[in-house]
Amino acid sequence: MDFNTAGMIDPFGRAISYLRVSVTDRCDFRCTYCMAEDMAFLPKRDLLTLEELDRLCTVFIEKGVRKLRLTGGEPLVRKNVMHLVRDLSRHLKSGALDELTLTTNGSQLSRFAEELADCGVRRINVSLDTLDPEKFRTITRWGNLEKVLQGIEAAERAGLKIKLNAVALKDFNDREIPELLRWAHGRGIDLTVIETMPMGEIDADRTDQYLPLSLLRAELEREFTLTDIPYKTGGPARYVEVKETGGRLGFITPMTHNFCESCNRVRLTCTGTLYMCLGQDDAADLRAPLRQSEGNELVSAAIDEAIGRKPKGHDFVIDRNTRRPAVARHMSVTGG
Ligand code: SAM
Ligand code: SF4
Repeated sequence: MDFNTAGMIDPFGRAISYLRVSVTDRCDFRCTYCMAEDMAFLPKRDLLTLEELDRLCTVFIEKGVRKLRLTGGEPLVRKNVMHLVRDLSRHLKSGALDELTLTTNGSQLSRFAEELADCGVRRINVSLDTLDPEKFRTITRWGNLEKVLQGIEAAERAGLKIKLNAVALKDFNDREIPELLRWAHGRGIDLTVIETMPMGEIDADRTDQYLPLSLLRAELEREFTLTDIPYKTGGPARYVEVKETGGRLGFITPMTHNFCESCNRVRLTCTGTLYMCLGQDDAADLRAPLRQSEGNELVSAAIDEAIGRKPKGHDFVIDRNTRRPAVARHMSVTGG
């Protein structure tokens, strides 16, 4: 099948080569900055099957996607998700895809780490905001830190390269970031800190949680020597090298620094909705054209049409006057 060999180019000349797929919006945690305690999830009947997800991902790969990240919700709680990983791994073998990876909360990694490695997954992102078991339980509402740490060990044993993601939360884990940094770098793991983004209604007040990373960086610089480096992983993080630990620290700053100029990605939900920007509501339904015919021409045309209206960027704001989230959907719908 040969659709658009020139690849997908948006109106601002950005080549779209990165697809993030939220394979489920469900999760075994309820992180307070991500979800409300009492969440209404997408109806199961609306979900794409694993076969449909594979078909859709394959169309994107044929159209120029080189990197694919499975996320969620928690991708490893989707039933039989490893069938999808196994199926998609054929594109790694054929050379059509450079990387197949996932973002996980780590709770199920003990079970799946080896199989992931066996499918050709080389790197994964694990989200971990604190090393304190009590605080971990508080922030995730009921998560078990021990299980996540065991998952990280299993991933290390399986030879997966891990990057740790921590959301920086004011008066919650900000003073703990140095400890997290030493712990991660001591194991050869890079750490990335993320600013909270105003996505979806949660129970907490985001102005209370929001910590600009410029402040965190200034605080860290009292203890560590940070040197800006041009290191890139294909994502929006800007990296520094930490002299004292020899490791890398990334900053993802959607709020204080707009990273949209170099955006190369689009996001697919588990119901087949394509979001062209994490911070905008505009979306395209790919499920209907996917199901309308056995061939992929209709869905391919719908993708082209959607890429043709990828916006220039987001306009997230968190302040006391802006009480409503910038976008109504939660991060777990489109995937972080
Ligand atoms: N469940 C998996 C996990 O936690 O890694 C994957 C999905 S989760 C939505 C992906 C990432 O988004 C996590 O690192 C999480 O901390 C982050 N995240 C969730 N809600 C966020 C928000 N409102 N602002 C910033 N980051 C958020
Ligand atoms: Fe679940 Fe990840 Fe959201 Fe936490 S951040 S509730 S682990 S989807």
